[in-house]
Amino acid sequence: MTVDFIYNNEATIRLSIFLSAFILLAIWEWKWPKRALTQNKLKRWFNNIALMVTGTLVVRVAVPMAAVGAAYFAENQHIGIANHFELPLWLEIVVVFVVLDLAIYSQHAMFHVLPVMWRFHRAHHSDLDFDITTGVRFHPVEILISVFIKIFLIVTWGAPVLAVILFEIVLNYMSMFTHCNICLNEKVERVLRWFIVTPDMHRVHHSIRENETNSNFAFNISAWDRIFGTYRAEPEAGQLGMSIGLTYFREKEWQNYGGLLLTPFSTNVKGYAINYRDTVNANELAQAKEIAQQHEEKAKLAIELDGYLQAIGQHALVSVTDSKGVIIEANDKFVEVSGYSREELLGQNHRIVNSGLHDKEFFDGMWSTITSGENWHDEVCDRAKNGELYWVDTTIVPIKSADGKIERYVSVRVDISKRKKYELGIEKVNQDLTDANIQLEELSRVDALTGIANRRYFDETLATYISTMSRTDVPLTLMLCDVDHFKNYNDLYGHQAGDVCLQNVAKSIDQNFTRAGDVAARYGGEEFAVILPNVGDVTAIMLAERMRANVEALKLEHGDSSVADVVTVSIGVVTGQLDKNMTIAEFIENADVALYRAKETGRNRVEVSK
Ligand code: GH3
Ligand code: MG
Ligand code: MG
Repeated sequence: MTVDFIYNNEATIRLSIFLSAFILLAIWEWKWPKRALTQNKLKRWFNNIALMVTGTLVVRVAVPMAAVGAAYFAENQHIGIANHFELPLWLEIVVVFVVLDLAIYSQHAMFHVLPVMWRFHRAHHSDLDFDITTGVRFHPVEILISVFIKIFLIVTWGAPVLAVILFEIVLNYMSMFTHCNICLNEKVERVLRWFIVTPDMHRVHHSIRENETNSNFAFNISAWDRIFGTYRAEPEAGQLGMSIGLTYFREKEWQNYGGLLLTPFSTNVKGYAINYRDTVNANELAQAKEIAQQHEEKAKLAIELDGYLQAIGQHALVSVTDSKGVIIEANDKFVEVSGYSREELLGQNHRIVNSGLHDKEFFDGMWSTITSGENWHDEVCDRAKNGELYWVDTTIVPIKSADGKIERYVSVRVDISKRKKYELGIEKVNQDLTDANIQLEELSRVDALTGIANRRYFDETLATYISTMSRTDVPLTLMLCDVDHFKNYNDLYGHQAGDVCLQNVAKSIDQNFTRAGDVAARYGGEEFAVILPNVGDVTAIMLAERMRANVEALKLEHGDSSVADVVTVSIGVVTGQLDKNMTIAEFIENADVALYRAKETGRNRVEVSK
């Protein structure tokens, strides 16, 4: 009875339910809106509703039988799967509801997956606001496609007319409800969305973010999204903060009636599920992006580093060894300077260029430094393949792995051979200069004619002795010695012979005094002086006497001497502990007085100062 009533007044019933539901929901969202609308409501509503009316008309004209008609047809013809089973009507209604709902879930997903279908579905998503009229804003072609799919399903399934009518009513209602801009009690909403699609759940699907748009495809039963893994609880920006619509089709021209009809034909096909599904793996995607960015940065760094290496390579010899010192890399400059080919260098250690100039301690020091993880720096002389030596200012840096173990040693060497050559040249000049200075100093201490110490050296030594010994008990002896009648000698044998005579006498005197600290010097002309530290009077007289006798023993002929027929000398001696107040001049004077006395008392003799 009721069923017949519904059958007969199907269109009227559907229309009145639709209108009353529309009015009710419209008032609700107008009174208690969830989000503020961004568009002019009147214009938007006009465009959206105009699109719905167009769709309805197109369906009426193109497919007059529509979904309910198809159900009549299947029932009358007794075709379809369900018509072969005898199920109670209530169960059939439930089954049809579930089957058709799953079908439109799948169809909806396909509208997002396939680019050509997405073209039509975009008209629904391009709405910049989300309210009841969004729920009726579908492109006529999309509606037509849906009707065809639904008819096919209804006929194939053999869905009862009543079930289809009820489904159509619920679908119409739910389409408006799920798009409604209303506030539901939060707790109610949380419970409700386990069973049916709520406005909050579906709003996620209208997000401007593609990964959110490609979520929550369900129309009525919310479970489909959870079952098929397309569920997303909330938009990332929050229900109030999120943006609605598509990133494109935001201009006015796409929001009016004409633009809506033309939306499918824009060449712009972007953002559909096949390409963009990352709801579950949003984090992974972010990580992947980050990794990609790091890779890009690393690649940039690598290029930069390569530039540095090339610049260093122009200037320095670079080699890399493993932890044992085996060469595993050698740059062109190293090859060029060492004269070895890269093949000859690789696999060897650096002993291949050892010059032999540095001792073992040098290399031991280097190894203990770098194996303890420290940098090492020094100037090293290496030997090229052709045997030539070259100097390199060397820095060795140990490279450690993450766990702190040394894995490589990088050596950077700058050729300093030129500088070294210059430095070594300077060093040689310096050495020569030092040698020359030593020679000069020696010369300044030596008498040119006789080769024994000169007057200057005598003066210096005597001054030193007197200043150090006057503070001690150590005795000091000074002898002054003068050749007898030497003027006559010169006159008789000539000046040159006189020189030779002086050389012989000097040699004889000098040979008497070999003890360290004794100095025999030419004091002037044909006078000699002897200083003997730590020699007391007895020894002094004995030594002076020996010195005199030795000269006489030379038997140098002297034809004009009143003393002997050979060359003789007279000696004045001063000896003993020094008087603290005595000056050098006084000390010499004393010796001189003694000498004078020796001359006076016959020559060829020794006199001691009293
Ligand atoms: P006396 O026994 O008193 O010392 O008599 P003397 O002739 O040696 O007297 P005096 O000491 O005054 O004479 C020094 C002479 O020594 C004068 C000089 O011709 C000579 N004489 C001094 N220096 C040299 C020298 O370097 N070479 C030579 N051949 N003769 C020198
Ligand atoms: Mg004299
Ligand atoms: Mg003399």
